[in-house]
Amino acid sequence: MKLKNKVVLITGSTRGIGKSMALAFAKKGAKVIINGRHPDLDPEFQEALSDLSADYQYLSADLMQSNLKDFAKTAWDLYGKIDILVNNAGINRDKMLIGMRDDDFDQVIDLDLRVPFFLTKAIIKKMNRERSGCIINMTSIVGIHGNAGQANYAAAKAGLIGFTKAAAREAALRHIRVNAIAPGMIDTDMTEKLSDRVKENILKQIPLARLGQTDEIAKTAIFLAQNDYITGQTIVVDGGMTI
Ligand code: NAD
Repeated sequence: MKLKNKVVLITGSTRGIGKSMALAFAKKGAKVIINGRHPDLDPEFQEALSDLSADYQYLSADLMQSNLKDFAKTAWDLYGKIDILVNNAGINRDKMLIGMRDDDFDQVIDLDLRVPFFLTKAIIKKMNRERSGCIINMTSIVGIHGNAGQANYAAAKAGLIGFTKAAAREAALRHIRVNAIAPGMIDTDMTEKLSDRVKENILKQIPLARLGQTDEIAKTAIFLAQNDYITGQTIVVDGGMTI
């Protein structure tokens, strides 16, 4: 897939990995629909997009509070199509299982699994008519290997990997590809909040001995969007952490 003039919707793209992806797709000449919870896009990000002469729209919506069918329709109508959907928005609410509250479980399952499921369902219906499309789900190595203190997050991210495979089998008939990216530890707000002790322990487990950068995940999304013969895969980007 050539990315020039393709339309990409990236959920939760006002910071971190999603923001890097928005900039990377814009650099390739794609039209980018950026989503976040705040009413306006922060001026620094607007400036970065203007520097790239990016064609973009900002769609403010809290996806846990939104009707996802309506959100999908509004996003689709911005450019009259969506070629690439990146289900990126995600949260974690880490606690050991015995101390995990119902709400910690429900919220993580809601944003990290339920939202990608229903948003993909709504967008894929429209992509079916075009007989082309690409979906990228942001999962995690935690969804493959598990992690103490992240039973809710591991369940959501593992669910997303299963969903990716099933949706890929169904959607292939209409030339729509569905893949996932499983990062290890990437330097974002999500990992910034970990204690220094936890970070040091994690670094010891990474053969490349550093956290990943958001642009290294963005490059993987570009690769998946451009390669028309990959579907149903989960690409691990973790500095060797899970070798
Ligand atoms: P982040 O916390 O920096 O950013 C998350 C984004 O999601 C933000 O833009 C936030 O505004 C948005 N978001 C949160 N709740 C939302 C809601 N209700 N509606 C709409 N948007 C909402 O996280 P990140 O590190 O950039 O992670 C991005 C994705 O990558 C997530 O799915 C995460 O689980 C996954 N991931 C991250 C890492 C990592 O090490 N950072 C590792 C593996 C997987």
